Amino acid sequence: EVKTLQELTRPNIWKLKPYSSARDEYKGVTASVFLDANENPYNTPHNRYPDPMQCELKTLLSKIKKVSPEHIFLGNGSDEAIDLVFRAFCEPGKDNVVAIDPTYGMYQVCADVNDVEYRKVLLDDDFQFSADKLLAATDEHTKLIFLCSPNNPTGNDLLRSEIEKILCQFEGLVMLDEAYNDFSKAPSFLEELDKYPNLVVFQTFSKAWGCAAIRLGMAFASKEIIDILNKIKYPYNVNQLTQQQAIAMLHKHDEIERWVKTLKEERDHLEAEFEKLPCAIKLFPSDANFFLVKVTDAVKIYNYLVGEGIIVRNRHNISLCCNCLRVTVGTRVENNTLLATLKKYPG
Ligand code: PMP
Repeated sequence: EVKTLQELTRPNIWKLKPYSSARDEYKGVTASVFLDANENPYNTPHNRYPDPMQCELKTLLSKIKKVSPEHIFLGNGSDEAIDLVFRAFCEPGKDNVVAIDPTYGMYQVCADVNDVEYRKVLLDDDFQFSADKLLAATDEHTKLIFLCSPNNPTGNDLLRSEIEKILCQFEGLVMLDEAYNDFSKAPSFLEELDKYPNLVVFQTFSKAWGCAAIRLGMAFASKEIIDILNKIKYPYNVNQLTQQQAIAMLHKHDEIERWVKTLKEERDHLEAEFEKLPCAIKLFPSDANFFLVKVTDAVKIYNYLVGEGIIVRNRHNISLCCNCLRVTVGTRVENNTLLATLKKYPG
């Protein structure tokens, strides 16, 4: 049985009266003279504050994602949304969260910044997790469980049945990071939002949408959860240029689908070619736009590649990733440059 949202929310946040910006108050009114926000009347269009609730963008997004706008939070990257869930739900020095390990590093950084205990549960050797093990790590102070599917850095989808078990059995909120879901065959859990009141799905414009530079992340959840995130966000957290670029991208939906198709083909090509390299010991199957590879000596190969002007991610020092490199799928030319350089590796 999921706890009530009031039980799960920090008491100060539950009571919080949000900042009301000038632009919140006249919502819907048509006016031509704006003397309310202490803006400079010159230098249009950059002189005006942007829409604090990103209405136009959310309306478009809601059509593509098939989720109504009240179920969408937009932030300065999904990193902002991840930080806000700690600030909304976890009391510093008292509450804790549970996460799979290894996974995306920002969950722990946000936990540490917010002084919230971060409990890690090691994945199995095949990079899957057991819902029972995760649930066993929770106690009455566990507010959030973090799952990432496809997982970074391992690249694989987590088992749907185990995710569902967590959603059914955990009393707190389940954070499901789907940053890489566009590259996977697995359907998004967005379709399940109505079924699970404790589900929060994170997605981003930084990967499949090709917009890491504009910093736009999404959280999808019940209206009640989204209202809490909106209450504590900075008033104008998504700037005007970002909103405009995102709207332009949403109109180019077809192009994104083509990129994703190409990147998946490139991923399969690159992994197949890696299999033939003497320095590659084990390739891990990927459902994302990157893959993990175990090599003969990750530190040496990483440094060799840097010397050749090629940067991959050295994951040698993280759990279960001894001697592993994480390789992002690039263009065919970039991928072939990497392959040709590794073929010349003297080690
Ligand atoms: N989640 C995962 C799993 C990621 O790997 C990343 C980026 N590396 C993010 C979230 C961050 O996304 P954003 O750029 O939207 O902050």
